[in-house]
Amino acid sequence: MKLEKCCYCGDMTDMPFQCNYCKDFFCPEHRLPEEHRCVKLTLIRARKFGERRVIRDGGTGKKSFLRRFFGR
Ligand SMILES: [Zn+2]
Ligand SMILES: [Zn+2]
Repeated sequence: MKLEKCCYCGDMTDMPFQCNYCKDFFCPEHRLPEEHRCVKLTLIRARKFGERRVIRDGGTGKKSFLRRFFGR
């Protein structure tokens, strides 16, 4: 078992969570990017916004692909 120090509150925890975004370790309380004011939080928000746009673009992209496919 490895003890890690929460990078947000400084508590030692035997159940460290590593943030997928800033790669720092946090206690269960502060593991979410929103809870530890993640340095990548603005990037995460931007990416989520981008994903929504990609899904919408993907829908129209598929339709035009089908049209191209059957139009021949
Ligand atoms: Zn903490
Ligand atoms: Zn983080």
